[in-house]
Amino acid sequence: MSILVVGSVALDSVKTPFGTREDALGGSGTYFSVSASYFTSVNLVAVVGSDFPQKHINLLKRHAIDVDGLQRVPGKTFRWKGRYTYDLNTAETLDTQLNVFAQFKPSIPEKYKNSKYVFLGNIDPELQLEVLKQVKKPDLVVCDTMNFWISSKKKELIKTLKHVDILVINEAEVRQLAEEKNLVKAARMICSWGPKSLVVKRGEYGALFFNKGHIFSAPALPLEDILDPTGAGDSFAGGFVGYLAKTGDISDKSLRRAIVFGSVMASFNVEDFSVGRLDRLKWPIIKKRFDQFKVLTHFDSVR
Ligand code: AMP
Repeated sequence: MSILVVGSVALDSVKTPFGTREDALGGSGTYFSVSASYFTSVNLVAVVGSDFPQKHINLLKRHAIDVDGLQRVPGKTFRWKGRYTYDLNTAETLDTQLNVFAQFKPSIPEKYKNSKYVFLGNIDPELQLEVLKQVKKPDLVVCDTMNFWISSKKKELIKTLKHVDILVINEAEVRQLAEEKNLVKAARMICSWGPKSLVVKRGEYGALFFNKGHIFSAPALPLEDILDPTGAGDSFAGGFVGYLAKTGDISDKSLRRAIVFGSVMASFNVEDFSVGRLDRLKWPIIKKRFDQFKVLTHFDSVR
C-alpha cells in the first residue's frame, strides 16, 4: 500500500566534525520519502520556493516518489541550519527559516484522500492536523515532531496527537513534551493523550518501542563511518512506516521488524551528508543489513 507523507522539503546547511554542506537537500518529508521508497510507493505533500533546484525534484522522481502534491510557490524554500559536535546524538539548531512554509496550506490531491498509511513528518502541528482532516479513513497515522514545535506549539501538538496511532519522537523530546524525566512514565503519559504506541529514537543507542504495556528495544548498528546524522530520525520513520505499508501488517511481530527496518535505514543515512547514501541503496544491501541486526542482538536462553 502507498504512503501519504506531509513534511518539510528543505535546503539544509550542516556542519559536523567531518565536513560541512551548504543548501543541501534535506527536510523531514525528503528523508522520509527517499527511505520509504525502498519499501513501497510514496506520495509527498510539501511546499518549496522558486529557488528550489530542479535536480532535487528529479532525485525524488527517480525514486518513483509522486510529487503531484509538492507545491512550488514564489519565495524562498524552508531552510534549516544546524551543527553537531562529537556528540552526534544532538543537533544544535543555529537557524530555522520557515519561508514558504509560513504560508503553506496543505492541500491533499483528491487521489491521495483515501490513503491508508499516513506519515505526518515534522512540521507545524496545526498543518499536520489540517492534513488529517482531509484524509478519509486511514488505517495507520504515524507522526513525528521536534523540540522546535514542542516549545512553540505544545497545545496544538497535543490536539494533533489525539488523532495519531504512533508517535515517533526522540528521547529528549519525550521528556520535554511530557515534562517528566523518567522515560517510562513520560511514554505512558503521552500515550494517554491519544497515541497507542510510541517509538523513542535514542540516536546511537537505538530505539525503544512502547506498545500496549510492552517495551521492545532495537540497537543502532555500531558504525565506523558516520558523516552526518541529519535526517536519521526521518529515515528511521521511512523504514518503519515503509515496511508496515509494504506488508499491510500491523501485528506486534511486524511492528518489531518495522522498528529494525527503521534502524537499518537510519544506519545508512548517517554514512553520508544529505540523502547521499539513501539515494544509492539497493534492496539486497538493505536486507543484508537487516540480517546484521539480527546477529547483533541474538542470544540464547539458559536452562
Ligand atoms: P532529523 O531526522 O530529526 O535529523 O531531521 C532533520 C531534518 O529536519 C532536516 O533536514 C531539517 O530540514 C528538518 N527540520 C529541522 N527543523 C525543522 C522544523 N522546525 N520543521 C520542519 N522540519 C525541520
